Amino acid sequence: MDKKIWLSLAHMSGREQDFIKEAFDTNWVVPLGPNVNGFEADLEKYIGENKHVVALSAGTAALHLALIMLGVKAGDEVICQSFTFAASANPITYLGAIPVFIDSESETWNMDPQLLEQAIIDRKAKIGKYPKAIIPVHLYGMPAKMDEIMAIANRYEIPVLEDAAEALGSIYKGQYCGTFGEYGVFSFNGNKMITTSGGGALVTPNEEAKKRVMFYATQARENAPHYQHEEIGYNYRMSNICAGIGRGQMYVLDEHVEHRRHVHDLYVELLKDVEGITVMQRPSDEYNSNFWLTCILIDSKITGFDREYLRIKMDENQIETRPLWKPMHLQPVFSNVPMYVNGVSEVLFNDGLCLPSGPMCTDDDIYRVVNIIKNCK
Ligand SMILES: *Cc1c(COP(=O)(O)O)cnc(C)c1O
Repeated sequence: MDKKIWLSLAHMSGREQDFIKEAFDTNWVVPLGPNVNGFEADLEKYIGENKHVVALSAGTAALHLALIMLGVKAGDEVICQSFTFAASANPITYLGAIPVFIDSESETWNMDPQLLEQAIIDRKAKIGKYPKAIIPVHLYGMPAKMDEIMAIANRYEIPVLEDAAEALGSIYKGQYCGTFGEYGVFSFNGNKMITTSGGGALVTPNEEAKKRVMFYATQARENAPHYQHEEIGYNYRMSNICAGIGRGQMYVLDEHVEHRRHVHDLYVELLKDVEGITVMQRPSDEYNSNFWLTCILIDSKITGFDREYLRIKMDENQIETRPLWKPMHLQPVFSNVPMYVNGVSEVLFNDGLCLPSGPMCTDDDIYRVVNIIKNCK
């Protein structure tokens, strides 16, 4: 039987064990410690822009704390990209706030700036106040149209919380994704660009905000020898062991980005003459995606088969693929919230498939995947 090809597996640099061993040897097997500080410093150096980073237990925790920092309260509305993983939207509801979903434009597949502005104006007209925050997502690593989104956000003075969970290493107009908004989020879950076995980070605008986030992430404990609490806190800090893995992973981050771009380029090359199959590509050189996952669209009128047919064929051939994210405005759990829809993400969901793209994916693997697509015809 053929070797199984996975969508996106983790890959270790080999240095992770050194940092973990050091944590054990020095008895820092706790949340906090030298690896946490070291990993945060590594990330700050990597993304630049004078940002301050807090390592947390998950990307979802980072989104939750950012919304708290932005003052989101029960009954507030928060604008969120509809075409995303549920983790972008779930933390809005943790606070009793209401997500307002915005559909995508067809170039980057991310938040449509035109719909965004329409929604802001319409929400003000309907409920008398502006949304408290805007959450654009760089889906599959592709940078959103940040110039347009930031211009609109600034016009209405609404802060931006960038969900860059899939976009570590992606660059938009010379600047790393995750550094455009007031806050930015990365994820280090098992299948993301780098892993800490599970974890995330919040990019904050300054040292003061970083300290405040750390305070909320460690049960909002006031500075007193007894345990004094004046606010509600959370247990969201990254452990020193996980951060050790993260420090090791930083050695292979650039390699991983390069590899995923190579995988993408090879898919583009091999699929360029296959009718009815379109590989998602950069709208221009300004959108330097990390290509976390390479995605294709299947025009079943031309190919004669649809996304599900191909997905099952792949599965039968030991190849893991995945439909594109099902938009939040089509999810039963969010059926009663405001949404501004143009049909773009629904078509992407119906016709799109993510192909194996991880660091363990070889050129031979890609030839095998492409052959299955070609043999479907
Ligand atoms: C993975 C992911 C998250 C959540 O990150 P976790 O670390 O898994 O909590 C948030 N948003 C997007 C778009 C993601 O892909």
